[in-house]
Amino acid sequence: MRIFAASLATETNTFAPIPTDRAAFAPQYFPPGQHPATPTLCSAPIVVARRLGREDGHTVIEGSSAWAEPAGIVGRTTYEELRDEILGQLRAALPLDVVLFGLHGCMVAHGYDDCEGDLLSRARAIAPDAVIGAELDLHAHLTDAMVANSDFLVAFKEFPHTDFLARAEDLAALCLAKAAGAISPVACVFDLRHIGGYMTGREPGRSFVDRLVAQEGQGGIHSISVIHGFQAADVHDVGSKVLVYTDDRATGAALAEALGRELLSWGGSGVPAHLKTAAAVADAIATPGRPVVLADRWDNPGGGVAGDSTFLIAELLKHPDIPAAAGALWDPQAVAFCIAADPGAVLPLRFGGKAASTSGQPIDAVVTVRATTADLLIPFEQSTVSLGAAAAISIGTLDVVLASGRAQTFSPAVFTNLGIDLAAKKIVVVKSSNHFFAAFAPIAAKITYVDCGGPYPPDPAKIPYTKVRRPISPLDANPWLYPRNA
Ligand SMILES: [Zn+2]
Repeated sequence: MRIFAASLATETNTFAPIPTDRAAFAPQYFPPGQHPATPTLCSAPIVVARRLGREDGHTVIEGSSAWAEPAGIVGRTTYEELRDEILGQLRAALPLDVVLFGLHGCMVAHGYDDCEGDLLSRARAIAPDAVIGAELDLHAHLTDAMVANSDFLVAFKEFPHTDFLARAEDLAALCLAKAAGAISPVACVFDLRHIGGYMTGREPGRSFVDRLVAQEGQGGIHSISVIHGFQAADVHDVGSKVLVYTDDRATGAALAEALGRELLSWGGSGVPAHLKTAAAVADAIATPGRPVVLADRWDNPGGGVAGDSTFLIAELLKHPDIPAAAGALWDPQAVAFCIAADPGAVLPLRFGGKAASTSGQPIDAVVTVRATTADLLIPFEQSTVSLGAAAAISIGTLDVVLASGRAQTFSPAVFTNLGIDLAAKKIVVVKSSNHFFAAFAPIAAKITYVDCGGPYPPDPAKIPYTKVRRPISPLDANPWLYPRNA
C-alpha cells in the first residue's frame, strides 16, 4: 500500500502570554526524510510508517514534521504555512491508500479555533479515497470536524504519556485494516459535558485504562479513546469526551456513554490533592527519607505557561539548612549571564519571575555557577527533549537549574546532567504536571503536587471562557439536567 505520514502539533494555551511563531517550531521541525529515528511526542506515526515500509514492503511517502513546545495562540501565517506545506506534500503523493497524521488535538491559531479539524477536512478533500487516521494527545479538544473528516482518531491512553509509540502502532493497524477492506467501523462520541482531569498512573485511572486496552479487539470494538481535554483554552469543544469505533452504532454509543458516565462518577478522585506552597515545603521537611519531590503543577511549560515562577524557590530560601534542588526554571537571560561568567564564578544574579504577573517576583541572590551546557538534553520515553543552553547555580544548599528553552522536567537528567546529586537533596522541585512521575517515582521518598496559584488556570470554574458550549460542569451545576443538544 501507499502510505503518507506527517505531523503538525502543539498544545495551545489560549490564556498564555507567550505567542507561538515559526521560530517556536524550529527546534522540532523536520522536512521530509529528516525526522530522527526516534519519535517526538506527536510524531510517532512517522516512525511507525517507516517500520511498516521496512518490514512489510509498503511504500511510505514522508511529509514534514513540526512540533512547538506548548505556549500561546499560534500565528495565523505560521499555521497556514506549515499546514499548506504538508497538504502540498499530500497532494504530490497521490494516489494513496492510507494517510497518517501525528497531531496533538488542541492547536489554536489566530482565525482557527480547531486547527486539526481544518487540516483533516482539507486532507479529506485532497485524498477522498484514502483512509485517513490521526494520533492525538488525550489533552485534546475533540471536534465534530475532526471525527467527520477522519476514519480513525486514536488518542494516548496514558497520562503520563508513556504510550505514544504504542498508540501510533494501533492507529496504523486500524487504517491498514480498513484500507484492505477487513473492517469498516463507525465512530461514536459521548460528550461528558465536563471539564476535568484524570491521571492514569494511579487508581481509579490505572484499572480503567487496563480495561480499555482489554476491551479493544473484542466484540466488534476496534478502538476506544478517552479524550481528557485541555482546560486552558477558550474554544467550543473544551472538555472530556469518549470516542469509540465499533462495528455497529448501538454498541459503540452504549459503550462510549457507559465509560463517560464512569469517569463522571469519579468526582475529584481522578486527580491527587494539592498542597499550597509553604505547606508543601513544611510537609516535605517533616517527611522521613529523601528526596521529597514537589511538582510545581501549575507552572508546567508542558501546559503552555512559562515555567519561570519563583514561589517554591522563595519558600526554600527561607530554609537554608535544607539541601534542595529546583528546576528547570526558564530564564534565557540568566543562563546567558552564567555562561558568560563560566563555572566557578560567584556573581549577583536576578533570575525567574519575568514572564507574567503570576510568575512571582524575580529572585535576587549572589550565586555560584556550578556548571553550564550548550544544550541540556533529557530523555522522555522513546524521545529526547532539549532544554537548550542551561546552567546550574547554587545559593547555599539550594541548587537551581536555569534553562534557555522551555520544556517540562521529564527526568532527573535535568539535574544529574549538570552534576547535581539528587540523593543528597531533601527536596527536589520539578516544573511538571505529571510527566515527571514515571522517571522520578523510583528515586522519590514521596511525591507531592503543589498549587502555587498559577499561572496555569487550575480551576475551570474560574476560567473566563466565552466560547465553550453550555451547559458544562463545573461552569453549570448539573449539565445533565438540561436537554441534550448534541
Ligand atoms: Zn498531554
